[in-house]
Amino acid sequence: MSLLQEFERYPLTFGPTPIEHLPRLSATLGGKVQIYAKREDCNSGLAMGGNKLRKLEYIVPDAIASGADTLVSIGGVQSNHTRIVAATAAKIGMKCVVVQEKWVPHYDAVYDRVGNILMTRLMGADSRLVEAGFDIGIRKSWEEAIQSVRDAGGTPYPLPAGASVHKYGGLGYVGFAEEVASQEEEQGFAFDYIIVCVVTGSTQAGMIVGFAASNRADRVIGIDASATPSQTRMQVRQIVDNTAKLVSLGRAIRDDEIVINPNYAYPAYGVPSDETNDAIRLAARTEGMITDPVYEGKSMQGMADLIRKGYFPEGSRILYVHLGGAPAINGYSYYYKDG
Ligand SMILES: *Cc1c(COP(=O)(O)O)cnc(C)c1O
Repeated sequence: MSLLQEFERYPLTFGPTPIEHLPRLSATLGGKVQIYAKREDCNSGLAMGGNKLRKLEYIVPDAIASGADTLVSIGGVQSNHTRIVAATAAKIGMKCVVVQEKWVPHYDAVYDRVGNILMTRLMGADSRLVEAGFDIGIRKSWEEAIQSVRDAGGTPYPLPAGASVHKYGGLGYVGFAEEVASQEEEQGFAFDYIIVCVVTGSTQAGMIVGFAASNRADRVIGIDASATPSQTRMQVRQIVDNTAKLVSLGRAIRDDEIVINPNYAYPAYGVPSDETNDAIRLAARTEGMITDPVYEGKSMQGMADLIRKGYFPEGSRILYVHLGGAPAINGYSYYYKDG
C-alpha cells in the first residue's frame, strides 16, 4: 500500500524512470560490484527534466488550489531548480519569478548566458540576478521577490530553494522509493545500496522515509555537494521528520538512518575538483552518461572512490540515482575544452 494514497499528484513526468545496467563502468571500477543507474535525468519532456519535477508533482496541486498566478523561487545562476520551476509555470499557465544568486565562485565568460539560465529566460520567467552567496536556507532576496509580486497586484506561490523546505517537498521521493521497490520485484533482485547527491535535502529525505517502510533507509548514501554538510544534514533531518509525520510512517527515523558522506564536495559548492572532473569523464567515456560539475559529478566521484576503496562488499548491486543537471556543463566549458 502506498504511503502517498492521500496526496494529489499533478503529472509532470513520463512515469516510472528506467533502471539501466552500467556494465562498462562496473568493469572499469574493478568488476566486484554491479552498478545500475536510475535515470531521473530522463524523466520528462519539460525542459530536459530532473529530480525537481518529482517533487513539484506533489506541490503543483497546492499551488493551483491556492489561487496563485505566479510561482516564485530561488537558486544559483546555473540553477536546475529555477529552470524546472520556469518550465512548470509555462506548462500550468502561471507566471514565474526566479531569483538567481551568486552561489558559485566561477567565472566562465558566458556562465550567466547559457545552459539552465538560457532555458529559464526562454520559457518566459522573470529571472533576477542578485549578488548574495551560497545558502540553502530561507533567503531575504526570495522574500523580497514574493513581496514584489504582491506589490504588482499578483498572487505569488512561494517555492523555496530546491523545493525542499516546503510542506510537501519530501513526498515525490517517497514515491521514488516505492517505484524502485516495484521495479526490484519485476527484475527479481533488490539493490544493496542507493547513491544520491544531496544539497537542499528533500530528495534524500523523501527516499529515507520511503525506504524506511522496508527498513533500509540506511542503505541510501547521500553524497554531499553543498560543502556545508552540517546545514544540509540539519535540513534533511527536518524534512525527514516532517515527511514521516505527513505520510503517517508510524515511527521516528533514527539519526543513524540518515547517511551523508561529506568527503566529495570540495573545493566548494558548484566548483568541481580534478577528481570530480575525472569522474565525469569516466561516466561519459564508459557509458555515454553525462554528469555535471555541480551535483552528479560529485556523487559519481563519491561512488567511484568508495568502490575503489572496497567500501561495498563484493557482489553488491548499487543503484546510482542520476538526478539530472547536465545543462549546467555549458557554463563550465573551459574545464572540458580538451575533453
Ligand atoms: C537539486 C539537485 C540535486 C540535489 O537535490 P536536493 O533535493 O536539493 O538535495 C542533485 N542533482 C541535481 C541535478 C539537482 O538539480
